[in-house]
Amino acid sequence: MSLNLDIPYFKKYGESTGGPLNPISELKGRLHSLTGARYSISLNKLKDKHPEIKFNEQMWSEVDRHYHEDCECGLKSKATLEMVAQSIFEAQNEPKAQEILKKKGDKENWDFNTVITWVKLLFGRNTLQGQGMEEQAIKDLSTDLWRFELEIANDELDKKYCVDIVVKNKSSKEIVGGIQVKPKSYYNTGIDHVTQANKKWGHPVYHLKYDDMDSKNWLNRLDVLSKFI
Ligand SMILES: [Zn+2]
Repeated sequence: MSLNLDIPYFKKYGESTGGPLNPISELKGRLHSLTGARYSISLNKLKDKHPEIKFNEQMWSEVDRHYHEDCECGLKSKATLEMVAQSIFEAQNEPKAQEILKKKGDKENWDFNTVITWVKLLFGRNTLQGQGMEEQAIKDLSTDLWRFELEIANDELDKKYCVDIVVKNKSSKEIVGGIQVKPKSYYNTGIDHVTQANKKWGHPVYHLKYDDMDSKNWLNRLDVLSKFI
């Protein structure tokens, strides 16, 4: 991903779309999320109409193009990425947002570059590139977890609880847990913000770790499998 996550926000909150910008983007409720379809475009619909979207950069430029142009697919975006970022940037000044920031120990509002990086990370997740390791994990675990149904978590679950994959009982469709896919480098950053978010979900979340994007080796596959079997 060609995003510079080497900035204070992602050092503090982990390289995910968690942290205070998440609740600040939803001050008026989940349905009125500033990153949602109501204020920009449904990424799932966009991907359905444009299966050629595979990389983050494509997703970002397609969101903007569907704002500026009338695409023949019929979808229209109500904002560009920059406009989405601007609205979240400004929402930080709301009293409720100030409370959230204060609670997290953030002394001032996050700068625009931080906010747009966060928005890009969120929008880029809905691409093949963003989902690469999650899709791979589903493939590599499904044979052994044949009693279960594994599916990519929706953006909401990912944003709020840092769950990448939802595991359901195949017959009862009951949720039995979740899986978070992370490179081992994540765990060197100190604060494990993901685990903190996981705990709020109410189902167990196990972390499947891989070495790096180049070799893509699972480091604890059997361990994760054993939690479900
Ligand atoms: Zn289109």
